[in-house]
Amino acid sequence: MSEKPDAFKIAQQQFLAVADRLKLSPAIKAFLSEPEALHVFTVPFVSDKGDTRVITGIRAQHSFARGPAKGGLRFHPDVTIDEVKALSMWMTWKCAVVNIPYGGAKGGLIVDYKALSDAEKERLTRSYARRLAPIIGPDLDIPAPDVNTGNEEMAWIANEYANVVGHPEPAVITGKPVEYGGSLGRGSATGRGLAFCVERYFENTVGSVKGITVAVQGFGNAGQYAARILSGMGANVVAVSDSGSAVYNAKGISVGAAIEHKVKTGVVEGIPGKKLPKDKLLELEVDLLVPAALENAITGDNVSKIKARLIAEAANGPLTPEADAYFAKHGVTVIPDVLANAGGVTVSYFEWVQNRQRLYWTETEVNTRLREIMRRALDEVQREAAEHKVNWRTAAYMLAIGRVVKALQSSQGF
Ligand code: GLU
Repeated sequence: MSEKPDAFKIAQQQFLAVADRLKLSPAIKAFLSEPEALHVFTVPFVSDKGDTRVITGIRAQHSFARGPAKGGLRFHPDVTIDEVKALSMWMTWKCAVVNIPYGGAKGGLIVDYKALSDAEKERLTRSYARRLAPIIGPDLDIPAPDVNTGNEEMAWIANEYANVVGHPEPAVITGKPVEYGGSLGRGSATGRGLAFCVERYFENTVGSVKGITVAVQGFGNAGQYAARILSGMGANVVAVSDSGSAVYNAKGISVGAAIEHKVKTGVVEGIPGKKLPKDKLLELEVDLLVPAALENAITGDNVSKIKARLIAEAANGPLTPEADAYFAKHGVTVIPDVLANAGGVTVSYFEWVQNRQRLYWTETEVNTRLREIMRRALDEVQREAAEHKVNWRTAAYMLAIGRVVKALQSSQGF
């Protein structure tokens, strides 16, 4: 096994390769190679036993070039400063690919969050929120959910922020519960956005998404909704996996029942079908593979075993550059994370717009606007890839970096 690749080095290399292709100036390269601001906090909280524990909290604000910084908060023991920096840079490109008026940011707590009690989770999150309060805001930096965080955490942070500034300010964070300023459709948005991309891809190529076979690696929020919505479009989800195992069913998995099973038992094991070791899911012969877990699922070590004809990245950074290069060489299209999973941040944008206007949309309005944005972005990336004869990640980066650079040039004279 090769070592865990350093996400920030990968992010920088990806950026610099495209920057060279776009002939960007040394100043722009230097400016966009690092976050504009990086905050590292000590975050104390009182455990249930009554002792005080101190956790490292991070917020990287990669870019404000196109608007306030935007991006999620991940609470996980493997979080590192470099990983958060990488993810913040990816958020900048993601917001630019779908052309929403934000820069990029990411935050994290280095903690085994799942091992904490509910009361500890709340105390820790509120303590982190108080550290974040001076550096976030609806016109400055707008956090959101990411790995192991959801609308409960967002509500605590919004409430803590309101306590600090002295008035409610729902637009400071997105992914809130619907009853506390959240948007309808935000929970399903990442999976739905991915399904819209895939639907459009098949319309633009073979004609229809109906009947394609799909394997989904990772059965959390994004994976579950992607599977559910794709299957609603007529695709045949034949395999799902989680961190424990995989299930394969050639006749097709009944996705609604599978989600119910996962929610009830916490695992995919037991869903009707054949049990496989979790990594075997990646090697199935399917039309579409959706990596929806963490980074580095597909590396130089396992890429040659992958037989899927299309990959759509629901997770952030699930392919290493070696894996990317292999797919490019073998003609396998990869719909990159900055496009495929941008539905989440797009509906976050809708939530922020609704909060600021105090005018709330129906779920149909949200989904219709999301579909429009995802289809347009997919068409633009596909066109860029064809025009410049590059893979889709490079094409998405070319579009995104081009937009960020134009903003910098017109506003800051770079
Ligand atoms: N964490 C999600 C992402 O990586 C959503 C970010 C947001 O909604 O701001 O895209």
